[in-house]
Amino acid sequence: MSLPADYHMHTPLCRHATGEPSEYARQALAVGLTEIGFSDHAPMPQDDFDNWRMNADKLDEYVAKVRQAQKDFPQLAIRLALEVDYLPGYEDWIRTLAARHPWDYFIGSVHYVSDSWAIDDPQKLSEWKHRDADEVWATYFERLTMAAESGFFDIIGHADLPKKFGHRPSRDCAPLYDKFLNAAKKHNCAVELNTAGLRKDCREIYPSRDIVRLAFQKGVPITFGSDAHAPEEVGMNFADAVALAREAGYRERCRFAQRKRDSVPF
Ligand SMILES: [Zn+2]
Ligand SMILES: [Zn+2]
Repeated sequence: MSLPADYHMHTPLCRHATGEPSEYARQALAVGLTEIGFSDHAPMPQDDFDNWRMNADKLDEYVAKVRQAQKDFPQLAIRLALEVDYLPGYEDWIRTLAARHPWDYFIGSVHYVSDSWAIDDPQKLSEWKHRDADEVWATYFERLTMAAESGFFDIIGHADLPKKFGHRPSRDCAPLYDKFLNAAKKHNCAVELNTAGLRKDCREIYPSRDIVRLAFQKGVPITFGSDAHAPEEVGMNFADAVALAREAGYRERCRFAQRKRDSVPF
């Protein structure tokens, strides 16, 4: 059985990743992957929204780079995708992005719990001191549920991101997980098992074992992603993610092409 596809990888166009797509592709082959997908941080309508995504005028260059990698590595299935921020009020922008290119899939991610604070931004880490962790977790999952309900996304990224720096809720979040996963199931969103959490303070895959188990019980499909921001991170800790998925009951993962989904064993 081959390793599942790595569907979450970045490029230097987002201004905080290193290595060209060809280097990611080479690494993918070296670690035994047969399928990958680039899902770099999509632009926002305002280029000064933050400093960790591609500018809007780089989108065509991004697509060209991925297309070039597809030509250079015909032995590897390479998907063209984006990691799109979900914020209420940006629906028209997401529609515009979706119409720009024949994407294979969109990962919908919540990083922002307000228009000015991305909870995972190391430059904004001190903001956590002024916030109530329970409120952040609640707002985050409300937005994640809205992202699933929006119908814009094939996959929901790193579904419990607020744990990144170790900020844990004091309340039981099971009702929040339940609501989110019901929305994901109803609106045909897969949930990503993202190994980047293992490289962060939380030292855990996103999302947690509890969420992965609940997702399986509800019939929510999954994908896998390293969230690689450097070539050596491609496929990193996939054995751990596969073990977590299998323990929860999963034997198949989603494959996307032109925003159509099918299932393949892993
Ligand atoms: Zn990033
Ligand atoms: Zn992300």
